[in-house]
Amino acid sequence: MKQFRIGNGYDIHPLTEGRRCVLGGVEIPSSRGLSGHSDADCLTHAVCDALLGAAGLPDIGHYFPNTDEAYRDIDSQQLLRQTAALLRSKGFEIENIDTTLVAESPRVGPYRDRMKSTLADSAGISPDRIGVKATTNEGMDDIGRSRAIAAYAVCLVSRDG
Ligand code: MG
Repeated sequence: MKQFRIGNGYDIHPLTEGRRCVLGGVEIPSSRGLSGHSDADCLTHAVCDALLGAAGLPDIGHYFPNTDEAYRDIDSQQLLRQTAALLRSKGFEIENIDTTLVAESPRVGPYRDRMKSTLADSAGISPDRIGVKATTNEGMDDIGRSRAIAAYAVCLVSRDG
């Protein structure tokens, strides 16, 4: 009998000068990028938190603290790979992951397929089990003024139980 569990994750990082803009593991040409301790890939961080939550585990900050120099500027795909391996070590399979990016700029549409395949590769599932959607914040609040990018993720995991 398969046991199913859902998880959800959310993350937001500020947009600043002099940083790369990495979303879903794909570097997007942009005059400004996301600031944070790691590569600040909020989309991948939201996915990690969704997976950890589905498994009833502590959040991304517990496993990869932003006070640890080992994670400075780290490629967040490494964090997702480790997260997926942790779930598998506990007997979970990842069924699917769905995400929504909320960004006024840069426009991410042209990079969506690469984000899907990059996230799929890191999570160890096929790209058709990953959703990457994007919307703007219609000019409202800090996201709407291009001061930040946020991401939401949900996932379904299963385990024999
Ligand atoms: Mg983050």
